[in-house]
Amino acid sequence: MKQYSLKKRVLVTGGAGFLGSHLCERLLADGCDVLCVDNFFTGARRNIEHLLDNRAFELMRHDVTFPLYVEVDEIYNLACPASPIHYQFDPVQTTKTSVMGAINMLGLAKRTKAKILQASTSEVYGDPTIHPQPESYWGNVNPIGTRSCYDEGKRCAETLFFDYHRQHNLAIRVVRIFNTYGPRMHPNDGRVVSNFIVQALRGNDITIYGDGTQTRSFCYVTDLVDAMARMMNNGANFVGPVNIGNPGEFTMLQLAESVIRLTGSKSKLVFQPLPSDDPKQRQPNIELARAKLGWQPTIALEEGLKKTIEYFRTSPGA
Ligand code: NAD
Ligand code: UDP
Ligand code: UDP
Repeated sequence: MKQYSLKKRVLVTGGAGFLGSHLCERLLADGCDVLCVDNFFTGARRNIEHLLDNRAFELMRHDVTFPLYVEVDEIYNLACPASPIHYQFDPVQTTKTSVMGAINMLGLAKRTKAKILQASTSEVYGDPTIHPQPESYWGNVNPIGTRSCYDEGKRCAETLFFDYHRQHNLAIRVVRIFNTYGPRMHPNDGRVVSNFIVQALRGNDITIYGDGTQTRSFCYVTDLVDAMARMMNNGANFVGPVNIGNPGEFTMLQLAESVIRLTGSKSKLVFQPLPSDDPKQRQPNIELARAKLGWQPTIALEEGLKKTIEYFRTSPGA
């Protein structure tokens, strides 16, 4: 007799990336069948290699700017390069990935009646004039700058999600992710936590852009993945958008000092020009996540940095 699986079939686009690989792991642990779709632009096979023997895990090389016909119950749409170096490498492709990728995944969700979650970003707030940023803030985004391919692509994706929700009754979820870090960050993708750790471990100069007084709030990856799963599964049909991040706010100088101390490095700080449109201050207001999802981060920066340093110290190729 033919066996039909009653397990939830979950599609993770961008599943071979930093966040996607942790999400795939979490979903497998929760007992789901996971289809990981990735074009390997910034993701890597080594991020999900340890999952390939799991019969509940399937990997497909595919670019989400092209249609995708599969049968699924839930979709987490993470496909999109996230670091400024990578999203600015081919900015037209970045916007296409966010916009056409969203249209295709929403079309797929519409046909299969799947629930669909969008990995949006704090970049929808641009260089914010309100601090900390609540979800009700509409943002301060340059539409024609070097970050715009990412920021405006993600904003348009949110628009598409809410229009498919209103027009076609789709079950959507939108999370706005603030700076997240942890093991499997790409060592060369230019994001600040990976840059500082790799520089400190190699004894190279630590590159501070601008005067280092700009701030960010850093969330450890497992906290973020937990919030995404809670958002997808919330029973109240709360669609968001909801901020997910750790409100602990640090200057880049403070971050550099912590990394130097925790690695025991002798690296020196060097100052380089600030990239254009670099936000000066960023901190999530997470009251909505607390109230609707009963979620708050559990891992403080120092603890998360130790785990991430350990990863970069011990992983070949990292
Ligand atoms: P990442 O670059 O490691 O992962 C992105 C993944 O998407 C990669 O595996 C890449 O190969 C894949 N991808 C890119 N374009 C694709 C395409 N056209 N088709 C199929 N796959 C494609 O970055 P990440 O940090 O894991 O980010 C994952 C998602 O979370 C992104 O959508 C990003 O915008 C969002 N996000 C991340 C952060 C963060 O701090 N890490 C913050 C805000 C938002
Ligand atoms: N699509 C997809 N997989 C599906 C269904 C649709 O990739 O299973 C794509 C398809 O290419 C389409 C897009 O999603 O262009 C939007 O689909 P929708 O049904 O909203 O619009 P339409 O098909 O009318 O353009
Ligand atoms: N940054 C830095 N040195 C680096 C990389 C980044 O000082 O080697 C700064 C960057 O200018 C920004 C902050 O760190 O102010 C966070 O940068 P990242 O690219 O990680 O994230 P985003 O700017 O997208 O929040």
